[in-house]
Amino acid sequence: GSRDVAVVATRVLDRMREALVEAEGDLGRLDSVAGDGDHGRGMVKGVTAACAAAHSAVDRGAGVSTLLALAGRAWAAQAGGTSGVLWGAALEAGGSVLGDDRTVDGRVLAQAVRAGVDRLRELGGADVGDKTMLDALVPLADAFEDGLAGQRRALDAWRDACTRADEAARATAGLRPQVGRARPLAERSVGTPDPGAVSLVLCARTLTHAVAD
Ligand code: ADP
Ligand code: MG
Ligand code: MG
Repeated sequence: GSRDVAVVATRVLDRMREALVEAEGDLGRLDSVAGDGDHGRGMVKGVTAACAAAHSAVDRGAGVSTLLALAGRAWAAQAGGTSGVLWGAALEAGGSVLGDDRTVDGRVLAQAVRAGVDRLRELGGADVGDKTMLDALVPLADAFEDGLAGQRRALDAWRDACTRADEAARATAGLRPQVGRARPLAERSVGTPDPGAVSLVLCARTLTHAVAD
């Protein structure tokens, strides 16, 4: 039922938090090459606030749309950086597609991811190739839709899409940042992948485990 979806979403956020806590130092080091070094810290602060909001929403019986709106706003407010504002807005946009009373299958999840991509693009004003998290997120969304269209089971399609997004995140090492704090030191960033793209893949991968639990 719809309540189960809220519980699963909370579990996904908890898993993301575990992954981000573990990666905090590495993400900070990636961000310090050409950015300000706070990406690991910001992601942990944002996801921690989102988890707290999600747990209190689920305890009150909230549906997944309400839950993700509260979690997204908490993430944006507490992360203290560009990626946090974008993550928060994308979660909220995705949640509004899921709704509080809808049955969620792979196709609905794909629509939610697409809504998150669109919101992130609109709010951040970046596009594929600008060396941001969009360079991982857009291939993730595309590959997930392609997998579903090819009759792959949703979890398998998601796993394949994560592999595709991981390759794309690694490939950002060859790009020069066109937006964000790393732009002034764009040349220095060549050879290092975009921290936001790397953290996005870590977060996406947790969904497979959390849903399968
Ligand atoms: P800040 O840059 O404010 O210190 P973070 O370090 O947490 O915030 O996040 C940096 C990441 O945010 C970048 O690696 C990139 O992936 C992402 N990012 C920055 N600007 C944009 C943008 N305009 N659109 C999409 N993603 C962006
Ligand atoms: Mg930073
Ligand atoms: Mg910063």
